[in-house]
Amino acid sequence: MVQTPFVITIDGPAGSGKTTTAKALAARLGFIYVDTGAMYRAVAYAVQSLGHAIDDAAAISALVPDLDVRLELRDGAQHTLLNGENIEEFIRSQEMSKAASDVSAIPAVRDAMVSLQRNAVKGTEGAILEGRDIGTVVFPDAPCKIFLVADVRTRALRRKQQLEGKGMVVDLSVIEREIEERDINDSTREHSPLRKAPYAIEVETTNTSIEEQVSMILTLVEKRLRKVRGEDPA
Ligand code: C5P
Repeated sequence: MVQTPFVITIDGPAGSGKTTTAKALAARLGFIYVDTGAMYRAVAYAVQSLGHAIDDAAAISALVPDLDVRLELRDGAQHTLLNGENIEEFIRSQEMSKAASDVSAIPAVRDAMVSLQRNAVKGTEGAILEGRDIGTVVFPDAPCKIFLVADVRTRALRRKQQLEGKGMVVDLSVIEREIEERDINDSTREHSPLRKAPYAIEVETTNTSIEEQVSMILTLVEKRLRKVRGEDPA
C-alpha cells in the first residue's frame, strides 16, 4: 500500500523562525524537512549568474526548465544544489533574499518550484515544508498547518544573529528595511501571496524565545499527529 505522507506546513514572513522550527520538528519526528525558500534563492542565483535582469520575466521563465534545483542533507545540514553545484554559501545574503523575492513573483518559477516541492515528499512517512504558500497552494489539504507571525524588529534581530553566525557583517536597520520590503513584495504579489491558510494555527512569537516557540509548536503538532493516527480521540 502506498502511504500518504503526513505533511506539516509552516508559513510566515522572513525571520519568523520557520527554519529553526522546521528543523527541530524534523529531527524530533524523523520527517524530512524542505526549506522551499532555498529553491527560489537558487533560481535567483542562476538568473544573476547568467546576467539576466531580475525583472526580465520572459528570459527567466524560459530559463527555468533548464535548472536542476535540489536540496540535499549533508552532515545534518541542508545544502542547495544548482545543476550539481553546491551554492549554499552564495544564496543567504540580503541581496539574494531580495532577488529571490523578485523571481518568486513569476508564475513559471512558482509552477516549477511547487512541482519540485510536491515531488519531494513522495514516498516519505512525513515532511515539514516551510515557505510562504505551502498551506495555501502547495499542500492545501495538509493535516497540520502553522502560520508564524512576529513583529518586524524581532524578526530583524533574529535574522541579524543568523547572518552574523554565518560570518556576515550586517546593520540592523538595513535588515529591518529589507524585511519590510520583502513583507510587502511577498504579501501583495498576484500569484500565491503570503497568506495564512484556512485552518492554519497562528502562532505569534514576538515575545517568545526560539526555544519556547519550538517547544510550543512541537506540542501542537504531536497532538495533531496523535489525533490523525487515531491515538488521541480528544
Ligand atoms: O524563506 P526565505 O526567506 O529563504 O525565502 C526567500 C524568498 O523566496 C521569500 O522572500 C519569498 O519571496 C520566496 N518564497 C516564496 N514561496 C515560498 C518560499 C519562499 O515565494 N514557498
